Amino acid sequence: MNMNTEKIKLGISACLLGQPVRFDGQHKHDHYITDTLGRFFDFLPVCPEAECGLGIPRESMRLVGDPDDPRLITTRQGVDLTERMQAWIACRLPELEKAGLYGFIFKSRSPSSGMANVKVYNERGGVSGKAAGLFAKAFITRFPTLPCEEEGRLNDPDLRENFIERVFTLWRFRQTMATRPTLGTLMHFHACNKLLIQSHHEPLTREMGRDLADLEARKVRAYIPIYEAKLMRAMKTPATVRKHTNILQHMLGYLRKVADDADRKELADIIKDYHAELIPLIVPLTMLRHYVIKHDIEYLRDQYYLAPHPLELKLRNHA
Ligand code: SF4
Repeated sequence: MNMNTEKIKLGISACLLGQPVRFDGQHKHDHYITDTLGRFFDFLPVCPEAECGLGIPRESMRLVGDPDDPRLITTRQGVDLTERMQAWIACRLPELEKAGLYGFIFKSRSPSSGMANVKVYNERGGVSGKAAGLFAKAFITRFPTLPCEEEGRLNDPDLRENFIERVFTLWRFRQTMATRPTLGTLMHFHACNKLLIQSHHEPLTREMGRDLADLEARKVRAYIPIYEAKLMRAMKTPATVRKHTNILQHMLGYLRKVADDADRKELADIIKDYHAELIPLIVPLTMLRHYVIKHDIEYLRDQYYLAPHPLELKLRNHA
C-alpha cells in the first residue's frame, strides 16, 4: 500500500467541488477540499436534486412535517418532491455501492444532502425540529461503516483529523483483506493498528483483540464485516489529548532498553508539554519516530499510529 501515490475515492456533494448545481445555479466551492484533500482523494460528485431531474435553477425546497420522517417540499409552491427523491435514491444507492467509496463529504444544512441538523418546518412555517437530508439519511443507513462528514465540520481540526483518519484506516483495512482474507492477515492488521485504535477507544480495541484470539480460521470471512464495524465504531470516538498522552507514554516505555536517560527525559518532558496543550501532537510523534527508526524498535516501527495519514495533510500540527 502506498498512501502517497494511490488516490482514495470519496463521494461528495457536487456543489462543494464548484459545480453550479444549486437551486440558484450557484455552487459552494470548498477550496480546502479540492486543493488540499484533492491531492489524496478522487471525488465522485453527487447532486441528488439535479440528478433526480429537478433542473438548474429550480425552486428551493425544505424539510416539512415529522422530524422523524420529514417530507421534501418546495418553499414557494409547496410541491411535494419526497417520492421523486426517494425513487432516485433507490436507484442511485446500488450504483454508489459499486463505486468503491471509502467515505462521503456532505453539504451541510441541505434538505437533500445535510447529514444532520437540517431544519424541519411545520405547516405554519415554524421550525419543528432537526433531521438529516433525505439522501444523506438513506446513504448513512445503507453504508453504516463508511466515514461521513459535512464540509463545515471539516474546519474543526479534531473533526477533520478524525474523518480523514477513519477514511485511511478503512482503506487500509479493505485493501489488506481484499488481498488475503486470512486469520493471520487480520491479526497482523490488528497488531499494526492497535495503538491507533486504542488512541480512540481502548475497551473496543481489547474486545477486538479477544475476538481474534477466539476466532477459528474457517470463520474469518464471516467475521471480517463484524471487525470492520467495530473498527469504524472505535475510530469514530474522538482521540483526546489524555488518550494520546497515554499512548505516547506507553511508547516511551519501549525506549527504556535502547535510549539513554537524557534522551528519554527529553521525550518525557515533551510529552508533558503536549499533555499541557503547549505543543502539537506532531512534536512528540516526530521524536518518537526518530528513536524508533534509530533503534529499529520492531513493534513500534510497524504501528500506523505513528503515520496514519500523509504528513502533508498536517493533521496533527495544531496545539
Ligand atoms: S447541497 Fe446537495 S442537492 Fe444541494 S446543490 Fe449541493 S449537492 Fe446538490
